[in-house]
Amino acid sequence: MSHEHELQVLNPATEEAVATVPAATAADVDEAVVRATRAQVRWAALAPGDRARLLRRFAVAVDEHVEELAQSEVREAGHTVGNARWEAGNVRDLLDYAAGGVERLTGRQIPVPGGLDVTILEPLGVVGVIAPWNFPMPIAAWGTAPALAAGNAVILKPAETTPLTALRLAELALEAGLPEGLFQVLPGHGPVAGNALVEHPGVAKIVFTGSTAVGKQVLAKGSALLKRVTLELGGKSPNIVFADADIEAAAAAAPMAFLDNSGQDCCARTRILVQRSAYDRFLDLLAPAIESVRVGDPADETTDMGPLISKVQLERVRSYVPSDTDGIRGKAPEGPGFWFPPTVLTGVDPHARVAVEEVFGPVAVVLPFDDEADAIRLANATDYGLAGSIWTRDVGRALRVSQAVRAGNLSVNSHSSVRYWTPFGGFKQSGIGRELGPDALAAFTETKNVFISTEGPAQ
Ligand code: NAD
Repeated sequence: MSHEHELQVLNPATEEAVATVPAATAADVDEAVVRATRAQVRWAALAPGDRARLLRRFAVAVDEHVEELAQSEVREAGHTVGNARWEAGNVRDLLDYAAGGVERLTGRQIPVPGGLDVTILEPLGVVGVIAPWNFPMPIAAWGTAPALAAGNAVILKPAETTPLTALRLAELALEAGLPEGLFQVLPGHGPVAGNALVEHPGVAKIVFTGSTAVGKQVLAKGSALLKRVTLELGGKSPNIVFADADIEAAAAAAPMAFLDNSGQDCCARTRILVQRSAYDRFLDLLAPAIESVRVGDPADETTDMGPLISKVQLERVRSYVPSDTDGIRGKAPEGPGFWFPPTVLTGVDPHARVAVEEVFGPVAVVLPFDDEADAIRLANATDYGLAGSIWTRDVGRALRVSQAVRAGNLSVNSHSSVRYWTPFGGFKQSGIGRELGPDALAAFTETKNVFISTEGPAQ
């Protein structure tokens, strides 16, 4: 439970207290913006090569602390230690990749009559990053790394339940030589510190990742100030399995496609759509795969799935799963900790809450479909459009369905969604804007056009 002036961090696997962190007020945000504004001016004035070098040093500092950051993530977020190590490594990679862009952030020279025309990509100023608890480190870095690389200052507000790795990253940035005030972390409550960032006229852009409901408020309030806003919101992503696919491979991959991070993943493939002629065989293969998922102590190297983040999230997930529904249930520990077993529901009405809303827990539904058109209709029968997978051996079908599914990140015969090299973001209610990929830095710039007359003095 969080109190007004502090955040109490619990270990979700044991419910033991891990730390207490002061919660930032609106006045703290004001002061942070003053510091960030000053630091940004100096940062943007540095030679690009020096900015790149400092970001690479930050990446090295993160690399040297991967294990420490990972263990912290295990304690505060309950992530499996393997995942947590990958997440800390991802922060390093994001910083390195963004550092490579600093010296390549080029504008254009456009042919015009009477002079020379050039575009300049200027930093926005101060960027606010509001991060969720499901991937505290990577999502914080998706916004922070390219924003810094493009010459901005960043104020990061981590989620209430997961402030510790973010605070450590800010320390590592200072140790690496980034200027004071350039990258500040302000743990706090969303409606207080988060809202203050959104409403602050000195913050030029908000990068928000979280629920669709809060995202809409952030967009409305930010728009009132004509603030740039990027939203990465929820998902209800389909995993479409055609009868011509390698059914063994599809069934083997399906469990972790929605159970990774205990299903607290905006790209989780929670609607498993299976062609009717392969439905029974797929379920026969899926059942043992689900039952063999090892749920338990996230610090144990052999664990596949840890607890949910909090009691609130556990109650939310429970509310979606009626006790009388058919399906497959895995095992989960009893006792302290926010545990929920891997759960696959069958025979569910495609319009039921659990089939259309984001559960954000280890729960999927399996729905049968008849043909390609039916699969596309079902895949698109959601307000969300973040990710999806298509399993088929038919290349033409893979391409047709990829074009027809209204989602930002599709994967054929695999479940890949997020890679720092490629753009990521949602259609429909899943968000606005794209992050990551080759254009990530440009999203943190304003384009300025300068025309230089070549006309001589009037004769
Ligand atoms: P949330 O949207 O409330 O929180 C996300 C971030 O926004 C946190 O840092 C929070 O402090 C901040 N925030 C909250 N209210 C704010 C406000 N008024 N102004 C500015 N910032 C504010 O999400 P939640 O309650 O932690 O999770 C609820 C549901 O959201 C989950 O069950 C899940 O469905 C979804 N979710 C999605 C993602 C994602 O990656 N897309 C991440 C987290 C949660």
